[in-house]
Amino acid sequence: MPFDFIIVGAGLAGITAAEELANVMNKKVLILEKRDHIGGNCYDFINENGTRINKYGPHIFHTDNNLVYNYLSLFTMWDRHSHKILFKCDDTMVPVPFNFISIDKILPKEAEEIKSALLDKYDVKSKIPIKELVESENKHIKKLGDTIYEIFSKHLKKVYNINDNEIIEFIDKLLPFRTSYDCRYYENVYQAIPREGYTNMFNNMLSNHNITVMLNTNYHDIIKIDHKNKKIYFEDEEFEGHLIFTGMIDEFFEYKFGKLPYRSSILINEIIENDTFQDNAVIYYPEEYHFSRITDYKYLCGDYLESTTIQLEYPVEYDITSEEENVPFYCVPLEKNKEIFKKYRKLSEEYENITFIGRLTEYETLQMDEVVEKVLKLISEKFTGLSTEY
Ligand SMILES: Cc1cc2nc3c(=O)[nH]c(=O)nc-3n(C[C@H](O)[C@H](O)[C@H](O)COP(=O)(O)OP(=O)(O)OC[C@H]3O[C@@H](n4cnc5c(N)ncnc54)[C@H](O)[C@@H]3O)c2cc1C
Repeated sequence: MPFDFIIVGAGLAGITAAEELANVMNKKVLILEKRDHIGGNCYDFINENGTRINKYGPHIFHTDNNLVYNYLSLFTMWDRHSHKILFKCDDTMVPVPFNFISIDKILPKEAEEIKSALLDKYDVKSKIPIKELVESENKHIKKLGDTIYEIFSKHLKKVYNINDNEIIEFIDKLLPFRTSYDCRYYENVYQAIPREGYTNMFNNMLSNHNITVMLNTNYHDIIKIDHKNKKIYFEDEEFEGHLIFTGMIDEFFEYKFGKLPYRSSILINEIIENDTFQDNAVIYYPEEYHFSRITDYKYLCGDYLESTTIQLEYPVEYDITSEEENVPFYCVPLEKNKEIFKKYRKLSEEYENITFIGRLTEYETLQMDEVVEKVLKLISEKFTGLSTEY
């Protein structure tokens, strides 16, 4: 057997693990990837217009973690990008997360009363959970909370296709209101995009002769798992090395406890013969539009073209058997799904020769820095012994 490790999935998690094992431990690693490219959902490419776009939606790297930032900086230079998101509400564009400017836009008549009620109770630059606003005894603050909740719940129902009872569970997940005029979406110290793109960064991470990547390869075609005896077979021979799995945890266990639901998206790219299409990189659209957001890549890719590329994102049901809707974009973080997930998680702990990492094994919407941090920590604890404390 020529490989010490087999990794399922060439996304950020699988690539980070492969890089560490090959470069730090000089191990031979095989990565199996079912798509026709590396990078998972972070994959980007230059289109026929000369614009670099993310195939699966815009990705901005953001973190406060020096270790993660310094680690990825070994493989890429960065362009700083201070990300802003707008939400189309009727005829106006409102900054997200909602802040004092948002109040001026969505509740202009009561704006001053709401702001002074907020400042009587909270410090400047506070972050107030939307639930707290909704439950406030102050009528101005409650009005603000109810308005924000209504705007977001309608949007989220469209994205997640959930009902009125289920949307209540999302209230704790809404971005808190900010008592400030700061319109940056992220507050992290580092907010950037790889200068030559994510795919280029990933290629640099994989450039070690110890790493072999097989694209267009579903692991089921090569690997068989004997769940009863916890054994792995690679091309019909028992594999004595270690398997790192970054795919969907329910698929791995053959849906033993049921399917974990995901939402997918169809992304339509259009070249626009204008310098820009809209006033901001990303604009979210309310429920009356079929798409959930439009991204104008002129703001993200930093090119000097006279035209731009926009991307419309349409939420759809995830379907592993479909040609178009077979990419799991977003998990559906409802309590009933988490209960199913916990069963898979518990079962996964019984497999000593298999490590489960990445967002699809955690059934979580993990940001890129969280994925890298978790992978570096786990690989260090289990294999390399390198310190991940900064
Ligand atoms: C629309 C969108 C926007 C996002 N924007 C941001 C952002 O701005 N900033 C940020 O920090 N994060 C963002 N994220 C999150 C980011 O994409 C994830 O943190 C990251 O991609 C997780 O990497 P991963 O390797 O865990 O998962 P994935 O990228 O999903 O990689 C898993 C890989 O496993 C492969 N695989 C699955 N099953 C099999 C199989 N049976 N056989 C072989 N291969 C298999 C998949 O094809 C995939 O390539 C965004 C996510 C989405 C969906």
